[in-house]
Amino acid sequence: MDFALNEEQRMFRAMFRDFAAKEIAPHADDIDHEEALPAEMVRKAANQGFMGATLPEAYFGAELDGVSYAMLIESLAGACASFAVLLATHVSEVAMSILEHGSDEQKETWLTPMAAGEVIGAFALTEPDAGSDAAALQTSAVVEGDEVVLDGVKTWVTNGESAGLFLVFGRGEEGIESFLVPRDTPGLTVGYREPTLGLRSATFNTIYLENCRVPAANRLGAPGAGWEIAQRAQARMAIGMAAVGLGVAADSVDVAAQFATERVQFGVPIAKKQAIQAYVAEAFTDVEALRYLVYRTAWLTDQEGDFTVDAAMVKAFGARVARTVTNRMLQVLGGYGYMEDYPMARKYRDGRALGIIGGPTELQYVRVAQRIFAERDVEIAP
Ligand SMILES: Cc1cc2nc3c(=O)[nH]c(=O)nc-3n(C[C@H](O)[C@H](O)[C@H](O)COP(=O)(O)OP(=O)(O)OC[C@H]3O[C@@H](n4cnc5c(N)ncnc54)[C@H](O)[C@@H]3O)c2cc1C
Repeated sequence: MDFALNEEQRMFRAMFRDFAAKEIAPHADDIDHEEALPAEMVRKAANQGFMGATLPEAYFGAELDGVSYAMLIESLAGACASFAVLLATHVSEVAMSILEHGSDEQKETWLTPMAAGEVIGAFALTEPDAGSDAAALQTSAVVEGDEVVLDGVKTWVTNGESAGLFLVFGRGEEGIESFLVPRDTPGLTVGYREPTLGLRSATFNTIYLENCRVPAANRLGAPGAGWEIAQRAQARMAIGMAAVGLGVAADSVDVAAQFATERVQFGVPIAKKQAIQAYVAEAFTDVEALRYLVYRTAWLTDQEGDFTVDAAMVKAFGARVARTVTNRMLQVLGGYGYMEDYPMARKYRDGRALGIIGGPTELQYVRVAQRIFAERDVEIAP
């Protein structure tokens, strides 16, 4: 067993951290407070190949391995979780679904513009009455000649404001199907942008599909393969969200530890107080535990075999660490932690999303329980 990063991964990590510190972190508070789109971050990330992080070089992707990609998301999230969520949705849920399931024509059409950051991807699965139970979705996909007609409503679609391409899930004759729907398709309307507790620059919209016609050739994968495509995309996204949690939590520890050396009360830096030391040390330990689980699960994505249960575990753990660590580190900053002029409040708000986005923690644990009890011949339904 080798826990060390290889030379290339170490080089990548240094590059990601440098990029995040120079190009992302200085603007993170501003775009959060203005709830502005991170368009400039997209442009700069695309210049580095990050918008096509795991895509092959043939599509101008960076062809990163799983662990390097996790480190990219971690570094970006430490600076700006909104941007990391935008990028993970675009790469893990949409671009990788096209790479894995798309026809040659679909790959040729979409992957290069996606890697260039010219087209942002969005993943439209959830509906008003189909959240955790996404398989209950009602959006209809009716074949008419060589077209498919989509009708339905999708909620909380990440990147809704900026996306040029929506991966839309609907119910067809063969079951759940997925379709590539360009933003300018007549019948697709980007609706209400939800105000949110955190991740305020990632943008979450309602999408209306009314008599929205796409060529049948826009179906992704075989007829009826939509549910499997969604499951794989969400498993990749789960690891990405755990990496976001890692970045947010790790940076919170850094900010709090630094603050504790500078804030003087009772005549000494509060870092000299045992309660503060224990808070920071415990948080640091949680972050390191999460780091190893994230990297290991990311490594699994490059191996043969199913990683969906591992992805569920790391997502649940990542959400918990992000929530508890940002909460504790905010406490270290006292009143400053609660003030929006300091980045800690943003990290606390952003970290809270991770137990819901991409499937809530309770459902991740259902998957884990299914594996545990399957070995004991007990079937678990969600
Ligand atoms: C910030 C954000 C971004 C999102 N981005 C996207 C996106 O890009 N695309 C997209 O399609 N969706 C997106 N979603 C939707 C997200 O996937 C859903 O919110 C999530 O799947 C849960 O559905 P729900 O919110 O309707 O909760 P519900 O399903 O109504 O659940 C409510 C509560 O009940 C619990 N619960 C439900 N069923 C069970 C069960 N069987 N056992 C135990 N507990 C259960 C849940 O865990 C939760 O705590 C996003 C959500 C958020 C918050």
